[in-house]
Amino acid sequence: MSDYNEMWKGLGLDIEKHDVLLNALGAIYSDVYMNQECRPNGMGYFDFVMSEVHGLRIKELLEHKEKGGKVVGTFCLYVPDEIILAAGGLSVGLCGGAQFSVPDADAVLPRNLCPLIKSAFGFKISKICPYFEVADFVIGETTCDGKKKVWELLNEHIPTYVMELPQMKRETDRDLWLKEVKAFMEKMEEESGVKITPEVMEEKIKLVNRKREAIQRVFDARKANPVPISGKDALLISQIAFYDDLERFTTKVNELADELEERNKKREGVFDEKRPRILVSGCPMAIPNWKLHSVIEDSGGVVVCEESCVGTRYFSHLVEEERPTVEDKVKAIAERYMRINCSCFSPNEERIDDIIRYVKDYNASGVIHYTLQFCHTYNVEFVRVKEALKKANIPVLEIETDYSEGDVGQLKTRVEAFIEQVL
Ligand code: SF4
Ligand code: SF4
Repeated sequence: MSDYNEMWKGLGLDIEKHDVLLNALGAIYSDVYMNQECRPNGMGYFDFVMSEVHGLRIKELLEHKEKGGKVVGTFCLYVPDEIILAAGGLSVGLCGGAQFSVPDADAVLPRNLCPLIKSAFGFKISKICPYFEVADFVIGETTCDGKKKVWELLNEHIPTYVMELPQMKRETDRDLWLKEVKAFMEKMEEESGVKITPEVMEEKIKLVNRKREAIQRVFDARKANPVPISGKDALLISQIAFYDDLERFTTKVNELADELEERNKKREGVFDEKRPRILVSGCPMAIPNWKLHSVIEDSGGVVVCEESCVGTRYFSHLVEEERPTVEDKVKAIAERYMRINCSCFSPNEERIDDIIRYVKDYNASGVIHYTLQFCHTYNVEFVRVKEALKKANIPVLEIETDYSEGDVGQLKTRVEAFIEQVL
């Protein structure tokens, strides 16, 4: 990675701090990922992507910029990738998943704020994330209160365009959302100097749809018992989906899905088939947040599905492909994105239905609900989730945590007890 020193310097990174971050990340990755047994061979590609996390992909993004394309940072599933791509841009997910950048953010932001927001903001102000530095601008959204106020502060460091996301799903809200998606398209056209045509839009819609289908195949393979891939590995794929080259990623995920389907035919699994199967539901987990999955899989369980933005919420539902004009296509995009069931919406019954359906589809023995500290929407929504799961006789454990390692011992004790209970 030291070959990239000049590139990082050119981006203005704090090289000393960045070195510490990369060394720590390498050590955590090797500890969490490289000791797993019976991993599918197809994970080799994702190990490679991680080994190059601040290297090759950044080089590719810079090359894209040299050719005149834009790089756009995003923080939420509601920002439509199809439009960024149709305007000749590339998107990178900038959600922060590391404790490393939280202390710098704490010096500016209130302490009682979700660690995902603090981590992302900390990465920018401490100049240790090359993805932030390579981005021409970023797109925020009015999802939760913490995020929408942080965009005002982030805008002082990087141009931040904010999409207004309605918080209900009535007809008037859908109309507002459609207008927002149109305005976003105009913004992308203006920034990139590219007029979006129906042909290019259709091509990009199809590419993103194929990517979502590839991840769906991996998730479908996880429905088998024994499960052919660990939850940690599946989580990694969902996390890498936010920044890797779209077509290469889709090819590699499909190759992995072929391998997993073969494994299922031979009943080859990564764990004993008696392991309790856990559905994880709740807040997103950005790289390198592998904390809960590690605790679960080190405690004798296996994660078989994530009802999460790094999981089903990312790939469920496709954009309708056969619509004639750009206007119709934008409508199809707006419709697809309004089907994501995030807790920032009220009411959000569909998410509860999703969780119960996934428990059945993935044959899960129980649900671990994951809330990041100070995430009020997922935290409060858990009250309804718990009631519904109780009614359906599905065991559930609530975990509320941050990115620090301080509570890992306590989490292990609670998760082990839950796994005993559902065994
Ligand atoms: S949890 Fe909601 S607000 Fe956060 S990234 Fe996902 S969709 Fe966006
Ligand atoms: S996890 Fe919750 S509080 Fe944090 S950014 Fe997402 S919605 Fe907001």
